[in-house]
Amino acid sequence: MTLADAIRTIPDYPKPGIMFRDITTLLGDARAFRRAVDELVQPFAGQKIDKVAGIEARGFILGGAVAHQLSAGFVPLRKKGKLPHKTIAVEYDLEYGTDSMEIHLDAITPGEKVMLIDDLIATGGTAIAAIQLLRQTGAEVVAAAFVIDLPDLGGADKLRELGVPVSTLMAFGGH
Ligand code: AMP
Repeated sequence: MTLADAIRTIPDYPKPGIMFRDITTLLGDARAFRRAVDELVQPFAGQKIDKVAGIEARGFILGGAVAHQLSAGFVPLRKKGKLPHKTIAVEYDLEYGTDSMEIHLDAITPGEKVMLIDDLIATGGTAIAAIQLLRQTGAEVVAAAFVIDLPDLGGADKLRELGVPVSTLMAFGGH
């Protein structure tokens, strides 16, 4: 069984034309979950990483496990209004409208090496917003890792153009 077999695809969710890549089936499978975390960590084992930043909400589950394995801290990047202390925010475009993401102002000590984690990269809009926020706090974003890449949407290449090394565990064609 490959790791990709542990992902469930839901056609036309949340709207027609989207193939939703559901990682809950991977998370619920003990061996697949461990393997995904191992493979996310593997390229960076031995590299100094101070903190792992995870994007709400699926990036929290994977990012927490990756941070534990790397003996790094964990930093949540959250939707607007969820973080209780002083924050900075960034707005980013969705297909329809905009969204906003926040980080605690003191979550990163300037110069810390940070790895970004989410479940999936599509257009890259979410991850680029996350990198902007992290860089504003003084983080050095040394890597971004995702379980799933949708390469037809070009997000991973956009991150590489920003100077962030990207690693992904599998790719699916289309949206
Ligand atoms: P993007 O900003 O376009 O790179 O979209 C990435 C974010 O949207 C991630 O947080 C994903 O969890 C979610 N996402 C986008 N497309 C899909 C998809 N086909 N299946 C599951 N999640 C998706």
